[in-house]
Amino acid sequence: MPGVALVAVDVKHPDARKEYSYLIPDDIAVNVGDVVQVNFNSSRVNGVITGLSDGSEVLENVKMKYILKKESITLSPEFIGFCRNLAVYYGSSLIDFLKLMLPPPASKKREIIYAAALARDNLPDKATNQKKVWELVLTSGALSAREISQRTGLPISSVQAALTALVKKKLLIKSNRIIDRKQEMPAGERLMTPLNLTEEQALALKKIFANFDNQKKPVLLYGVTGSGKTEVYIRTIEKVINQGKKAIILVPEISLTPQMLAIFQTRFPGRVAVIHSRLSAGERFDEWHRIYDGQADVVIGARSAIFAPVKNLGLIIVDEEHESSYKQAEHPYYDARTAAILRARMQKAQIIFGSATPSVESYYKVASGEYMLVKMTRRASGMPLPKLEVVDMREELKAGNRHIFSRKLVASIKQILSSGRQAILFLNRRGHSTFVICRDCGFVMKCPHCDISLTYHFDDRSVKCHYCGYHIKAPDICPLCGSSNIRYFGAGTEKVEQEVYRLFPGVKALRIDADTISKKGSLEHILSSFRKGDAQILIGTQVVAKGLDFPKVSLVGVITADTALNMPDFRAGERTFQLITQVAGRAGRAELPGKVLVQTYCPESFAVKAACEKDITKFYQEELKNRRKSNYPPFCHLLNIILTGSEKDMVEENAAEIKNMLCGITNDGLDIYGPAPAPRYRVKDNYRYHVLLKSKKVETLIKVEDCLKSMKKKRGIKVAWDMDPQDLL
Ligand code: ADP
Ligand code: ZN
Ligand code: ZN
Repeated sequence: MPGVALVAVDVKHPDARKEYSYLIPDDIAVNVGDVVQVNFNSSRVNGVITGLSDGSEVLENVKMKYILKKESITLSPEFIGFCRNLAVYYGSSLIDFLKLMLPPPASKKREIIYAAALARDNLPDKATNQKKVWELVLTSGALSAREISQRTGLPISSVQAALTALVKKKLLIKSNRIIDRKQEMPAGERLMTPLNLTEEQALALKKIFANFDNQKKPVLLYGVTGSGKTEVYIRTIEKVINQGKKAIILVPEISLTPQMLAIFQTRFPGRVAVIHSRLSAGERFDEWHRIYDGQADVVIGARSAIFAPVKNLGLIIVDEEHESSYKQAEHPYYDARTAAILRARMQKAQIIFGSATPSVESYYKVASGEYMLVKMTRRASGMPLPKLEVVDMREELKAGNRHIFSRKLVASIKQILSSGRQAILFLNRRGHSTFVICRDCGFVMKCPHCDISLTYHFDDRSVKCHYCGYHIKAPDICPLCGSSNIRYFGAGTEKVEQEVYRLFPGVKALRIDADTISKKGSLEHILSSFRKGDAQILIGTQVVAKGLDFPKVSLVGVITADTALNMPDFRAGERTFQLITQVAGRAGRAELPGKVLVQTYCPESFAVKAACEKDITKFYQEELKNRRKSNYPPFCHLLNIILTGSEKDMVEENAAEIKNMLCGITNDGLDIYGPAPAPRYRVKDNYRYHVLLKSKKVETLIKVEDCLKSMKKKRGIKVAWDMDPQDLL
C-alpha cells in the first residue's frame, strides 16, 4: 500500500471545502505543506498537503486517485497551523486561507540573452552594427537586446537585426534568464537618515524591548499624530533584523504612505518587499518569491500582507490599527489584526499595534492586561498639537448663513491664503449633492436597484448610486410630475470644491475622493503636487485623514463632523472621534502651529466634544460605559449573519429558519437579535437581512459558525457570517 496524503484542494464547490485523501506515487516524495496538483471532479486543481498517513485507515474497495505532480513550493507547518486557526475562528475552510499564502498564478518573467559562441571574428568590415554588438557581448558576457541597445546607443531595431544575423552565423547563441519585474514605487520626496530619538521615542523603545524580552505581550503604541511612530517602528525592525529575523508591517492603504515607503527603502536598502493592490499578477508573483526565498527582511503591505510567506518572522507591526480597512468584509472574512495575533503566536513573533486613536477594543485590552501600553504624547517636532474649535452650525443658520462654510471657516481660509500656507478641507461624502428632490411633488431620486438615494455629480452632470454604480444623466424635469423645480441637497466634496472657487477666486484647489483617484497613480500625483505647493487647498474624503504629513498645512476644516455620527452603527461615535482626531492631526506638523475648525450640528455629542478637547481618556471612558450598557464589543463578541437574495420573502423566511435552528443548538450564553432588514436593505437588486448574535464566549459563536457551515443552503440565497464585524450596515 502506498502512502496517503491529506490534501486541501482549491475548488469553489461548497461540499469540497474539506481535506481529501490521495495516494502518493512511488516516484514522488512529499511532505506536509507541499503544494501539489490533483484531480478533483475530473479537473486538475492545486492543493496543499495537510497531513500524511500510511494508508491503513483507507477503505479497501474505495478507488483512490494519485497525486499528479508536486510543485516546488512548500508551506511550513507554522503557516498551515496559522491558516487552520483562522479557518476555525472565522468558520471558513482551510484552503480559503492557504490560498492567500500561495503565489498568484503567474510565472517568472524571462528575457532572451545572447552569449558569444566563437572567439574568432570573421565578420566583414562593412557589418559595423554586427561588429559592435558582437564585440560588446564578447567583452561583457551574455546580454539582452535591451541592454545591448542601452550600451551601444544603437536603436533596438538595429540591435535585433544584428543579433539575428549573428545567431545565424553561429557567432552568438541564444538562451534566456529570469528577470525581476521592476515595480514602480510610489515615490516619496523626502528620504530620511536616522534621526536622533526624542526622549519619548527612546523611552518607548526601551519599554518595547523590555516587553519583547519579558512579558511578550502585544504592544499598543499610542502615539499622538506626529509623535514619530515611524522611527520607533524602524528601530524595532532593526533590532529584529539584527537577531536574524524578519518583519511584516501592515498599513491601511499603501498608496497613502509614499513617505513611509521611501523611508523604509532608504533605511533597509534592497531588503523591502511591497505588496499592494495595484501590482500586476506578475509583479506580485515576483515579490512573493523574493519573500519566500528570504530576500526581503521587511514586508510592507495592506491587510493581505499578513499572509506573506515570511519564514523566521520576528515582528508584526500594524500601523493605524484602528482602521476598519483591516477587516475583509467579504469571503473569506478575516481581520488582519486578529490574524496578526494568531500568526505571531504560531511563529513566536512580537506585535506592535500603533495608532493615535486606538480602537476601543485595543484600549480595553490594555485595561484588561492583555496588551501593554506604550505612550508618546508629544510631537517629535516639539510643536504643540493643533487647537480644535467647534463651530455650531445651528448658530450659522440662525444668523442667516445657509452655506456649507461657516463665517469663521471662511475667515480662517482667507488668513491662510494671504500668508502662503495651506489648508485641508475634509468631508466624508463624495459627489456634489447627496440627494435630489422635486420641490413640487417631493419625489426623491433613488437607485432602482438599491435602497439609497442617488448622489448628484457635477463633473459629468449625472446622478449616481454609490452602492452599485448605477448612473443616469441628471434629469431637468421631475420624472414623476414633470416639474422643473428640482433641487439638490446635502453637500459632497464636489460642492465644497465649487464653494472654494466661488468664495476665493483665483485660488487653486485639489480634490481627493474615489472619483478623482480611480486612475492608477492619480492619488500619488495629487499628493505630490499638493506637497510641492501647486495648490493651496486640498479637499477630500477620509483619505485625507490617513497619516499624511504636509509640513505647510496649518488649517484643517471639518465641513461636517456629523456624517459618521449619524450612521446607524454602534461604532458611529468611535469613528467620529477617530476621524476628527486624525484629520486634525494633519495640521501644524512642522514649524507652523495648526488650527482646526470642526463644523457640526450636534456639538453636544460627546465624541465630537472629546475629540475637540483632545481628551482621549474621557472619550474611551464614556464610550466603554455605553458599550457595556448596550452590550457591544469589547463586552461581547458579535457574529453577524447576513442573508441576501432577490426574493424578499424567501430571504426573510430563511433568516427566520436560521434563527430557529440556532435557538435549538445552544443556550450557552447566546443572544440572538433579528432577523431584521439590514440598514443596507437592498443592494444590486438583492434584499439583505441579518441575524445578529452576541456572546461573551467566542467559542459559542465558533460553534454557531460550524452549524452554519454544515447547514444545507437554500437555492438563490447567500448566507455569509461575519465574525467581529466592523459595522452592521
Ligand atoms: P506619526 O506616524 O506618529 O504621526 P511620523 O512618524 O510621521 O509620526 O513623524 C512625524 C514627523 O516627525 C515626521 O516629519 C518625522 O520626520 C518627524 N520626526 C520623527 N521622529 C523625529 C525625531 N526623533 N527627531 C526629529 N523629527 C522627527
Ligand atoms: Zn415632482
Ligand atoms: Zn444602486
